[in-house]
Amino acid sequence: MNRSRREFLQKLTMSSMVLPIVSTYTPQWYGPLHTDVQGPVLRVALMGLGGYAQRVADAMKDCKRAKVTGLVSGTPAKLKEWGSKYNVPERNRYSYETFDDIKNNPDIDAVYVITPNALHHDNVIRAARAGKHVICEKPMAVSVQEGQEMVDACAAAGVQLLIGYRMRFEPNTLEIVNRRNAGEFGKINFFQGQCGFKIGDPNQWRLNKELAGGGALFDIGIYAINGTRYMVGEEPVWVTAQETKTDPTKFKEGVDETIQFQLGFASGAVASCLSTYNMNYLDRFYLNGDKGFAELWPSTGYGPIKGRTHQQPLNHPHIAHQTIQMDEMAAIILDGKKPVLPVDGTTGLQDLKIIEAIYRACATGARQELKLV
Ligand code: NAD
Repeated sequence: MNRSRREFLQKLTMSSMVLPIVSTYTPQWYGPLHTDVQGPVLRVALMGLGGYAQRVADAMKDCKRAKVTGLVSGTPAKLKEWGSKYNVPERNRYSYETFDDIKNNPDIDAVYVITPNALHHDNVIRAARAGKHVICEKPMAVSVQEGQEMVDACAAAGVQLLIGYRMRFEPNTLEIVNRRNAGEFGKINFFQGQCGFKIGDPNQWRLNKELAGGGALFDIGIYAINGTRYMVGEEPVWVTAQETKTDPTKFKEGVDETIQFQLGFASGAVASCLSTYNMNYLDRFYLNGDKGFAELWPSTGYGPIKGRTHQQPLNHPHIAHQTIQMDEMAAIILDGKKPVLPVDGTTGLQDLKIIEAIYRACATGARQELKLV
């Protein structure tokens, strides 16, 4: 037995030993436990063989319902190396020039777009026109208009569009969502989301507006935006925001370094969030209601995610988020499963509407009204 499997089983055993002591809750909604996944397999072509695609490909080795069967890259050497590493035959390897031929490939059901943000729009639309379901990394696009065009193109092609919101399948996160839905925290009053890190290499695409769409907000602040929505359980109706830039050389025009934003909800709840590329140790969610609270810290990193409520710690064993995500996405695409939290194109588009409103609020200083539903 390899080490990670042994650690997983140890954690599982420890967790099942402590569960009856710390929790009296029926665990029917704990989310995917990843032990009894059955059904046909979703055959996925990965597009953009960079850092995150590597993590996805490795995590997919443990999937029960999803498998890497295709590759798309502009670098022939990568196609060769990944092809042999992940057992993808030459006939299923594409360049960006040959990619449209994927429509004739019966070995591929879906394309997972993992390229820089500004390329998502064209790549998703090409995949949809080739008749393949599409999974697209966050942020789904760099503008609302682009996002809408992607949703429309997938609908017109009759394919599904899902966004790689891995936290929407994470078991500790889902436990909080379900406890909130069951009324354990009472009326929700407040959420705080802190998301950020100190970004390194000033020449990377994440600091180039042309490829990234913006700065920290599109990349890491989006976790606070998306998290606010699933933690509060409501769509925001207004936003205010303030931008701070301490290093205009590294963070050029249109590339945000730090933004604080506040969201308001029809219920009266409010949220206060921080998005930054220039501070470390920021990965924390805190939800407050009139009967209790929940905390996730770390809340959106690759895990293990740690959390607690006013009553108990959360103890779900760590499984790679991308493994759970891809098995769940297979069930959504192949079985029509309805996830606890949606991950469809409309959900991604709502984040883009909030992002654009935050930038408008920074530029004008004025509160922006939101109409998401
Ligand atoms: P990366 O730089 O490591 O990889 C990007 C890949 O795209 C590279 O292989 C690069 O060669 C390729 N590419 C294709 N066309 C390109 C072009 N014109 N310019 C530059 N690169 C080009 O980046 P990454 O960290 O893998 O991020 C890719 C996407 O995944 C982004 O949208 C990012 O937001 C998302 N992401 C999501 C998560 C998550 O947890 N869900 C984590 C990291 C990244």
